[in-house]
Amino acid sequence: MSATPFAALIRDVADFPQPGILFKDITPLLADADAFADAIRAMAAPWRGRGVRYVAGIEARGFILGAALARELQAGFVPVRKPGKLPARVIGEHYTLEYGVARIEVHADAVPPQAGVLLVDDVLATGGTLRAARSLLQRTGARLLGATVLVELEALGGRRHWDADVPLHAVLRF
Ligand code: IMP
Repeated sequence: MSATPFAALIRDVADFPQPGILFKDITPLLADADAFADAIRAMAAPWRGRGVRYVAGIEARGFILGAALARELQAGFVPVRKPGKLPARVIGEHYTLEYGVARIEVHADAVPPQAGVLLVDDVLATGGTLRAARSLLQRTGARLLGATVLVELEALGGRRHWDADVPLHAVLRF
């Protein structure tokens, strides 16, 4: 256990990346070895023994948490990336997010059909990013076991638009 609970190492940064946005910054948590390990264990706990073969992490902070989570769950890692970054054949989804319009892509052959996949990101805000990643993964033929985030910003209502057929776990809610 860390001397500082990991939740206390997530700081609020006002007006980033735009005026009026209160940004949850997880970099102090990532920099604390014990807190980082505690946070990853907390993210992994509900998914142990559930047949997770791949963890799919959303660029960029979902890579950091997702790669560590994949090791913790003894699963492989699949990157869900911003456009034009993946070298082989991709499929993509457009979506709207809290501050703009975006697209994410995954390799079309990233996971074998029916393989159990857990989707990971750092923060759930309006939910657009995670919803787009979910449809992307489902289009690959994967069996989406669930999604997990470190932080859910409840006021932004992401969970209201999330299809309850797929479990969504948040370690911390603000
Ligand atoms: P959503 O699509 O509105 O749910 O926004 C979630 C995406 O934006 C995630 O990929 C997050 O990394 C990022 N994001 C939104 N708000 C924050 C925040 O306060 N801190 C860190 N990332 C955020």
